[in-house]
Amino acid sequence: MGAQPSIGCIDDVRHGWVQGWAREGGRDGPARLLARHPGAAPVEVLADGYRPDLAAAGLGEGRHAFRFRLDTPGFDPARLELRFADGTPVRPSAACLAAWQESHAAPAPADLEALLESPVTRVLHWEMTRQCNLRCTYCAVSQPNYRGEDMDLGDFDALVATLRARRVQTLVVNGHGETTGIPGWHHRILALAAAGFRLAIISNFARLLREEELDAMARIASIQVSVDTHRPEVLRAVRRRVDLGNILLNMNGVRARAEALGLPQPVFAWSCVMSDKVALDFADYLRFGIAAGVRAFDVCNLSRYPDLPGVEMPEHATTLPDAELLRFADVLREGRALAARKGVTLTIQAGLLDTLRLELARRGLPAEVAA
Ligand code: SF4
Repeated sequence: MGAQPSIGCIDDVRHGWVQGWAREGGRDGPARLLARHPGAAPVEVLADGYRPDLAAAGLGEGRHAFRFRLDTPGFDPARLELRFADGTPVRPSAACLAAWQESHAAPAPADLEALLESPVTRVLHWEMTRQCNLRCTYCAVSQPNYRGEDMDLGDFDALVATLRARRVQTLVVNGHGETTGIPGWHHRILALAAAGFRLAIISNFARLLREEELDAMARIASIQVSVDTHRPEVLRAVRRRVDLGNILLNMNGVRARAEALGLPQPVFAWSCVMSDKVALDFADYLRFGIAAGVRAFDVCNLSRYPDLPGVEMPEHATTLPDAELLRFADVLREGRALAARKGVTLTIQAGLLDTLRLELARRGLPAEVAA
C-alpha cells in the first residue's frame, strides 16, 4: 500500500487561538507543523490532542488535534500558512473562514480600543510590501497564485507618530516582501532612524545598492541577509537572479558607509533555508560567512510548495539517501562546534532538528542530532 497523504483542517480561529487537527501520512503518532503569519514569529505546532469526533471519524485513536496561540495585529486566517514538514498545507475550513469574517465584519470602536489596550509595543514588524524582486524556488512568492502588494504609506508620518507614542523600541522593517524594492524606501528608513527607532531588516541584497541606499542601510542596526549557500552556482539555482558577489559588495558597502558617517557598525546575520541542495555544505557555508564578518546564522526548515515548471525544486534535507543523511547530521554537529568556537550565534529551527531525528529513527540510522 502506498503512503497515505497528510491531511488536516483548521476549524476555529477565535480570540487569538487557532484550533484544528492534522494527521501525518496516515500515522497515529503526533504530527509536527509550522505556522507562519505575516508580522508574527513562526510557531511550531504539535498535533497530538484527543478529540472524540476524530476517533469516531476513523482517524486512528483520534489523537490529532492541535491548538496554538497566534495573536498578532492584522491576523487573518486567509494569510495563515500552516504546513507539515513536507510542505503539505493545512487550510481553514469554509465554515471557519465564514465565522471569522462575520465576527470581524465591523469591529465596534470599543473593540478597537481593547486591541490597543497596552500603551507600549516593544518590537513591531512593519510589512511595507509583500512584493519581492526575487522568485526563490522554495518561496510562496514564486507560486502562481501569490499576490504581492505594497502597503499604502500615505499616512507614514501619522504612523510614525503613533509608533513613537507607543514607545516602540525595535522596528523590523520587513515582513514577507523585499523592502528595498519599494521606490524611495531609503527615505523611509532615514525618517525612521531620525525618529529614534532601533531598526532591523531582512533583505535579499540581490541588486547592488546605490550610495544613498547604502547610507540608509548603514542606519539599520541588525541586517539579516537571505543566503542559503556560499556556492554561487547553487545559490543561483535555488534563489534565481541572485549574485553572491552583489551580496558581499553590499555588505561591505554598508560597513564602509557606516564608518564614513560615524555610525555604529551594523550586525550582519545570514539566514539559510535548509534543503537537500545545501545541506552537506553547511559547515563550509558557516566558515565562509564567518570569514565575511557574519555574526549570526538562522537556519530555517524548508516548506515544500508545489513544483514549478522547469525548476528542479529543492527538497527537504531529510529526503537525502541514508549515507548523506548521516553526513548531514555530522555536518550540523560540526557547525554547532564551529559556531561555539568562533563565538557566533547559530539558531537552527527546532522543527528541522525534530524532523531529522524522526527520519533517522524511522530508517533505523544511528546518529546524534545537534541540540
Ligand atoms: S527573497 Fe525572500 S521573499 Fe523574496 S522570493 Fe526569496 S524567499 Fe521569497
